[in-house]
Amino acid sequence: MITLNKLTKRFGDHTLFDGLDLQIEQGEIVVVIGPSGTGKSTLLRCINFLETADAGQVTIDGITVDSAHTKAKDVLALRRKTGFVFQHYALFAHLTARENIAEGLITVKGWDKKKAHAYAQTILDDIGLGDKGDHYPAALSGGQQQRVGIGRAMALAPELLLFDEPTSALDPEWVGEVLSLMKRLAARHQTMLVVTHEMQFAREVADRVIFMADGELVEQGPPAQIFTQPHDPRLKKFLNQVG
Ligand code: ATP
Ligand code: MG
Repeated sequence: MITLNKLTKRFGDHTLFDGLDLQIEQGEIVVVIGPSGTGKSTLLRCINFLETADAGQVTIDGITVDSAHTKAKDVLALRRKTGFVFQHYALFAHLTARENIAEGLITVKGWDKKKAHAYAQTILDDIGLGDKGDHYPAALSGGQQQRVGIGRAMALAPELLLFDEPTSALDPEWVGEVLSLMKRLAARHQTMLVVTHEMQFAREVADRVIFMADGELVEQGPPAQIFTQPHDPRLKKFLNQVG
């Protein structure tokens, strides 16, 4: 289980969120939607301590880190329970697809290169890129690069996969293959917290949709409820805008 307890984040005197609480069950697929600039990315980054919140605790699978009193060892342990998929892939340009996936297994898990590369190949096969292991990112399409980004996160078998707009940098033609890989992960009950503007994905795949606005989790529920019976005027307006 994942618990955020009273998470608070400020940039200077701008408070992004204040006392934010959230629980995610194991295997749950949670999709966060909301207007630009409301703190969705920052929230994800505060969960795995790419960014440190000013106050509040993050607990993943029994490991708790207090944002105001971080210990490097605990932050590392917590981060290892998460995988992060970035909008712009963030692959290492000088490493092949196979090496990108193997990298964390070597540096984080301490596997030897041979074992890591063999396992990375099974991931490549799984994500439909079994014949692309020797390609560098520049020689892959945007969709293929993002699938490698997801494969890299999957390789460490994280408790929680965090996705920050994984398809919004892609040409439209590559969006479908990335969403379908994410759907397959969801079908395997991989716990996921996904920030996306892909409403169809949210409708089809999410167990729970959360509407975030003005730094608050304004409204949440099953997709059928959020999309067909929205209550908060901000959510109604947002849904009208995104169609
Ligand atoms: P989008 O939908 O456009 O991705 P978002 O909901 O992900 O938006 P964030 O990127 O979390 O929003 O940013 C929320 C607010 O915090 C914005 O006003 C942004 O300018 C501000 N912000 C984000 N990171 C920083 C930073 N490192 N320093 C100062 N302000 C920041
Ligand atoms: Mg964002």
